[in-house]
Amino acid sequence: MYRIRFHGRGGQGVKTASQVLGTAFFLEGYEVQDAPRYGAERRGAPVFAYVRAAHVPIMERGVITRPDLVVVADETLVPIPAAGVLQGLSERTVLLLGSAERPETWQDRLKVPGPVLTLPVAAQTGDHGVLPQIGASCAGAAARLLGVIRRESLARALQEEIAKFGSAAVAANLECALAAFDAMAPHAGLVAASAEIGAGDYQAPEWVDLPLEEAAVAAPDIHGALTSELAITGTWRTHTPMIDYERCNRCSWICSTFCPDSAIKVAADHTPRIDLDHCKGCLVCVAVCPPHAIRAVPEREATPENPR
Ligand code: SF4
Ligand code: SF4
Repeated sequence: MYRIRFHGRGGQGVKTASQVLGTAFFLEGYEVQDAPRYGAERRGAPVFAYVRAAHVPIMERGVITRPDLVVVADETLVPIPAAGVLQGLSERTVLLLGSAERPETWQDRLKVPGPVLTLPVAAQTGDHGVLPQIGASCAGAAARLLGVIRRESLARALQEEIAKFGSAAVAANLECALAAFDAMAPHAGLVAASAEIGAGDYQAPEWVDLPLEEAAVAAPDIHGALTSELAITGTWRTHTPMIDYERCNRCSWICSTFCPDSAIKVAADHTPRIDLDHCKGCLVCVAVCPPHAIRAVPEREATPENPR
């Protein structure tokens, strides 16, 4: 059985990558499971998706804890513990990172036991956040590393999975997927299938079991006010919303009302200000501003020279 885990940020096409790879496996005659895992309305937050493929019925369920291949669309996720990128890596796990840095640099930095490869997807697009072609690149690279998916099956799977986005999106994603497939030719078949994991080998998740108690005891009471301020969701962003105050007509309520995190405060003179510690970059404000006074700037370009 092949076990593949994709990691990325909400909006980077990781879910689509797993669907494309799953369908490509299916076209090659495999039984397939693919599933994403993410919360609601989480653009920029760590998400992952996984694919299992085998020539026999797949009885395993749940998240993949012992992957054969881990594909990381966004290198900035590596140091984030909640992303769990390095979870379960063994000496036979291939780690593919979306990064312009050399594999040797990452191998030295992470000291992971298995092979490390890089896919310079961010460099290709020139923009860390312009996606979801990154997802397509990851699917294409993964297909070649597995060595059991033909180029035409990858292309057909991608066309089937993203046809709903229109022919221009299909063409752009297909180009990225096939380029990544070709770029991984020297490593074709590097990922080997692993044996089925029997029930006797089951590893319980590392969660803490809580005893069942009456709701009056077990239900949480939060007595401290404003605790959500302590969650700095600004680290989730791939894009920063930037207000053009020349264009903003101080309507005073639309962006601040629609912001799901209440991260836009309006001053007494009706000027909106974005709280970047708590703006997670969902870009709802960009979509709703009537005079298009808010634009999305890739996070890496939001520098002091280009004030936010
Ligand atoms: S919605 Fe647009 S125009 Fe209205 S306050 Fe916000 S930025 Fe200004
Ligand atoms: S300020 Fe804009 S991008 Fe940031 S969380 Fe609010 S709506 Fe989303």
